[in-house]
Amino acid sequence: MNLSKYAANYSDHPAFRFKRAGVTGELRGNIAVMLLYVSEEGHAWNDYDIAEFEKVYQGAIDDIINEANQRGIPLRISTLRFYEKSSLLECNILKWTTDILKNYSVISPKLFQEDCKCRYELDEAPLVFAINRKIRSFAFCANTKADDYTCEFSIVDRFDRKNTIVHELLHQFGAVDFYTTDITKLAADKYLKDSVMNGGSTIDSLTRFLIGWDKELSDNAIYFLEETKVHKNT
Ligand SMILES: [Zn+2]
Repeated sequence: MNLSKYAANYSDHPAFRFKRAGVTGELRGNIAVMLLYVSEEGHAWNDYDIAEFEKVYQGAIDDIINEANQRGIPLRISTLRFYEKSSLLECNILKWTTDILKNYSVISPKLFQEDCKCRYELDEAPLVFAINRKIRSFAFCANTKADDYTCEFSIVDRFDRKNTIVHELLHQFGAVDFYTTDITKLAADKYLKDSVMNGGSTIDSLTRFLIGWDKELSDNAIYFLEETKVHKNT
């Protein structure tokens, strides 16, 4: 196998599709999460629920900061909180988000984040919606660099575990799921063990590269990329 440390060799690899795409770039510098508590119809947030969620959320943020600082990555993450009401989250997620953000005179999550970045002088302003009922949490990611309108945000819920919140937030900075196909799952189990992008709890070396922490691909990251390459016309 002819291996190369140069990421350029993998620029077509599906694992790289979110790296520096969309509105949020790298997870370093002065960052504030725009945490938007959404009280859906019939699922309002109260002070107790918010306090319970905050414990888990803050644990997730502290984990990310500690991990970054141990690696010498300059990173500060603060949180700005907003409270809104909405209809139930349904299939048309972009419409749901833009309806909520109308109160801020912006027409898209992307513009909301750009506006916050500017206003609060931040390097990045990732947007996270928190709702107060069990859903399958997910991140919505721009998947090409030219995808100007779509943007990253995530939707988490009060019952999420700490690692789920870390997972969704990392997506917004370019991380990808490793469990989507049998091939990627197997390769991740082998080379990127216990990754938070594969149901575990650590920030593996490929994810560190994707979110802008590591400047070089590790051997294990390269083995993973080699084993999960998509061969065109086959
Ligand atoms: Zn995911």
